[in-house]
Amino acid sequence: MTGASLPDYTLNPEDIPVVEACPLPSVDRDRLKENIARGLKELGATLVAHYYVDGDVQDVAEATGGCVSDSLEMARFGRDSDSDMLIVSGVKFMGETAKILSPEKNVYMPTLEAECSLDLGCPPDEFEAFMNEHPDRTVVVYANTSARVKALSDWIVTSSCALDIVNHLKARGEKILWAPDKHLGRYIESETGADMLLWSGACVVHEEFKTQALLDMKKVYPHAGVLVHPESPAAVIDIADAVGSTSAIIRAASELDHDIFIVATDRGIFHKLKQLNPDKRFIEAPTAGDGATCRSCAHCPWMAMNELETLDKLLTDEAYRASNEIHVDPALGRRAKEPLDRMLDFQKNRG
Ligand code: SF4
Repeated sequence: MTGASLPDYTLNPEDIPVVEACPLPSVDRDRLKENIARGLKELGATLVAHYYVDGDVQDVAEATGGCVSDSLEMARFGRDSDSDMLIVSGVKFMGETAKILSPEKNVYMPTLEAECSLDLGCPPDEFEAFMNEHPDRTVVVYANTSARVKALSDWIVTSSCALDIVNHLKARGEKILWAPDKHLGRYIESETGADMLLWSGACVVHEEFKTQALLDMKKVYPHAGVLVHPESPAAVIDIADAVGSTSAIIRAASELDHDIFIVATDRGIFHKLKQLNPDKRFIEAPTAGDGATCRSCAHCPWMAMNELETLDKLLTDEAYRASNEIHVDPALGRRAKEPLDRMLDFQKNRG
């Protein structure tokens, strides 16, 4: 159920940045990739990238001993890395998470403007007031939140571990206050049967996937499997052959027998899907249609800010790097680290 007193925290279209795609010739991309690999080595830095960023950035991360993964694994990898300097290619909450888990490390991002509509849609003061109205509930927040909201929470979850953690809390008889993604919250609520009070934020990318257009696409590709991220609306999730985090979607594409998949998540993931399944075909789930508002279709405008050129500039321009370092107040970071550690320990103990 959604909190009765809550406004809708879904972002308005005019608040979503427009990021123009300016594809570089491959010779320039190759040169930038070489520069970036050299720059990482010279600085002793490790690149940690999300599945949704530019495919070439993903390739450099893997080729230089960094990682490409979902946000849970990014957090773990950054924490366990020997490197004192982490470059996080993703969105701001991922950089903040890396800093909270490793306060002694220098954490940078290609640009601090890379936000997330879920993080923006959960203002800490308003969220704290909502929490105070429901002191009997265990506060579970999605990783896509600011350090301040994390510091207010009892548990932090990602889409990889949310079901397991909510099932665990339900078994202990706890009632849950969930934030910020209403779609993911509803999905978890329906899968677990837990008593959940939901905040009303949404991801601007997944919110746009359209049920009727997807059903029409299924008529054109009747044998296609449908892979859906649970940040999508419930009616889209209902059509899925597999629902899960980015890692779960990648696993399902390899394990299911289908030769064609319709994929309802950010199209950045297609780079890894095609790498791992060169004989299979992947099609973007439709986002257009009545009421469509997302200006970037199936690509997050903030993830799109992680360009090769920006990453190269971060490594070569000291002043630019200094202005894109992640800072988290140490006391706040210590409070936010507790629920993050709880999540990582929970996952570790489950094997
Ligand atoms: S895809 Fe959605 S949830 Fe992910 S960073 Fe972009 S706005 Fe946030």
